[in-house]
Amino acid sequence: MIPRSIISLVLSAYLFFSPAPAKDSKASFDGKAALSYIKVLAADTMLGRKSGEIGGQMAAEYIVSKLKEWDLEPAGPKGSYYQDLTIEYNEVERGASLEIVAGKAKREFVYGEDWRQQNYSGSGNFAADIVFIGYGISAPQKEYDDYSGVDVKDKLVLFSTDAPRKFEEKLKEEALFPNRIKAAQAHGARGVLTFRSETQTAGFFGGFRGGLKKESYKPDFVIISLENKIVEFIFKHLKTELRYLFQQIETTGKPQSFATGVRSFANLNIAYDEKRPTQNILAKIPGTDKNLKNEYVILGAHMDHLGLDMTGDVFNGADDNASGTAVVMEAARTMKLNQIKPKRTIIFALWAAEEEGLLGSKYYTENPVYPIEKTVSYINLDMEGHGSGKINFSGVYYAPEIWDLLKARLPKEIVDNVIPGRGGPGGSDHTYFLSKGVPGFMVITEGFHFRTNRVGDVIDLIKPEVLKNAGDFVQAAVEVLATEPKISTLAERQENYYWKYETIVNYKTPSLDEVIKEHGDIKDPDVDFQLAAVGEKEGMTGDTLRIEVMKALLAGQEKLRQSKGLWPYESQPAGPMMMRGRQSSKTTVLVGLRGIGSLRDDLRWADVFSKQGIAFVLLDQPGFLFGDKGLSEEGKKIVEALGKANLLLIVKGLDSAQSKIFLENSKKPVLLAVNNLPDKDVIDLIKKTNSSIGLVLGKDEDGVSCFKRLDEAKKTIGTGYLSIVAENCLWDKAGKEQMIKLIRELLKAKYENDDLANLFSGTFLRALARART
Ligand SMILES: [Zn+2]
Repeated sequence: MIPRSIISLVLSAYLFFSPAPAKDSKASFDGKAALSYIKVLAADTMLGRKSGEIGGQMAAEYIVSKLKEWDLEPAGPKGSYYQDLTIEYNEVERGASLEIVAGKAKREFVYGEDWRQQNYSGSGNFAADIVFIGYGISAPQKEYDDYSGVDVKDKLVLFSTDAPRKFEEKLKEEALFPNRIKAAQAHGARGVLTFRSETQTAGFFGGFRGGLKKESYKPDFVIISLENKIVEFIFKHLKTELRYLFQQIETTGKPQSFATGVRSFANLNIAYDEKRPTQNILAKIPGTDKNLKNEYVILGAHMDHLGLDMTGDVFNGADDNASGTAVVMEAARTMKLNQIKPKRTIIFALWAAEEEGLLGSKYYTENPVYPIEKTVSYINLDMEGHGSGKINFSGVYYAPEIWDLLKARLPKEIVDNVIPGRGGPGGSDHTYFLSKGVPGFMVITEGFHFRTNRVGDVIDLIKPEVLKNAGDFVQAAVEVLATEPKISTLAERQENYYWKYETIVNYKTPSLDEVIKEHGDIKDPDVDFQLAAVGEKEGMTGDTLRIEVMKALLAGQEKLRQSKGLWPYESQPAGPMMMRGRQSSKTTVLVGLRGIGSLRDDLRWADVFSKQGIAFVLLDQPGFLFGDKGLSEEGKKIVEALGKANLLLIVKGLDSAQSKIFLENSKKPVLLAVNNLPDKDVIDLIKKTNSSIGLVLGKDEDGVSCFKRLDEAKKTIGTGYLSIVAENCLWDKAGKEQMIKLIRELLKAKYENDDLANLFSGTFLRALARART
């Protein structure tokens, strides 16, 4: 900890120059005063306000000194302004360097650009030889060991974070990144140098970086990721080629490890602290109404920023987010000065460690000082200093009633300046409030925000008139929310919010025409992905039917592109966009074939349809695929053609024996829609083929029974292989109500966010992505 005396010395210099509060009894939000707080918060002497560092602490002390000066009541635990918490602190100190000597060539590489440490890396200042070890996988019991035949003691091991395709299944466990680190440590290596193969795709959840936990941390074991530039430099001086080596592993099934003779000089100092203390700041204006004072409106912003960069330059973070912090401060000062008498209690919150992953606000929502279910709204400010002066206010989809109220009560000149938006989790500190069911809004000024997260985010670019617009709006909004007698805190708020912010797939599959007719104009839907079918026409087969299918498909896609509420799946970029469903005000429509009547006589059409945007095939009467023993000859051809064509197979109505045969023959993942969990052999096959189960929830089944079946399935197979397939249409009231009740049970059982996301869409979307590559 830093001695308080030093901090007060620094602060007293600032306080001396701070503006005296106006004595006017009807003060309004003062943009210049807000600017003066930013001047302090974003000064170089605040060292970038990083939580867990002296700069973060000085910023907090400065804010509290102002709140005290303005006579705002502390609102933290035990009458303090501070809510203490600890964060995991993991920082590279300045002067990190990496030099590689290969033969006569010597080169120094730039930290942050060419290489960086991974989470839970240790430190060291050392010279070490580099040993190439393929994939860094050690599984001698399964006859594959990248460490066999090489000595890696005190050396740096170099490996690809990819995995050998040949053994993808067999080495699944050993290929997990934490296990590769463990192997390197067990073999006595000094550290690891990792890189990504050219062929390696980004990976659905951002690939490797997130995989480690603190168990991987050893104080003197370094974990470094390299850009390909460095790998190329190393190999330029060797008599072999990287691509050749990986090809050899693939074809021979044998490791190709060897000592490169290349030497490295590394200097990397990491400060790692499992529990570094920091704090949120909380102040309040207490409510005056006998009952409503026990309800809360929170106005908050993160006060932290990124600290110093590797060269010692300060990330001033004037816009991000000294600006939001200053708006909260000035709003608090003005309201206090005006001696407002709100019915509800107003909380002013400044969060720590937003930049480290929303840690301060997360801590608050998990350890609320005031009951979450009595919190009527949270308004978050993040970046209020740049732009046009108009205010983006998002979160309206989650609590339209709050926006309606504000529209009705606020002066026209304020409302006219506000641009309401759908909103949703992610990006800033409103996220965890939303997940707990509190209407969470995000305020960011409209327009371009200069130099976000870069060194040049400085005070000169901040416009006080923009600060004032943001301040006028949030101050007025908070006063309305704190005063309006009728704001209901819904009994099922959290369930409803989950329903809204989970990405929801509706498996009820009408024809594409019907989908467009029914939902084409609906904005802000709860359903994020809708399945739609083409492919059946009474009495038609062969070419006649194919022409019909193509016509329906092309016309439908055109209508989707033109519609207000829908968009076609294939028009979106592949990859992480999947998760964007919930951020979008449109429903993504996935078009599939119902049955295979349109291609049964000519299987080449599977590929043609797939290229035209057909995403899946729905087989609800797959009996025809089977012969006396296993798949019929035709069945085999069909399954093979569909697998090759990048189509996801959604199969209903198979018994256990058929499922087993089907999975054994399918090269691509399959979604098996089932009413009851299949046998263990089938479950093993599902995992092996990366397929998944869609547990069908009956039309009239109640939420509790749905939950019980789902929970059992989760215990047996895990949510990574499981999705919820409701028979009900989720656009309808009955479908929604069943889901809300199910969600209530899932929340009661404390399901993790990841599990919920898997069940509602994650598992399905991953299967789809895999089928289509
Ligand atoms: Zn920010």
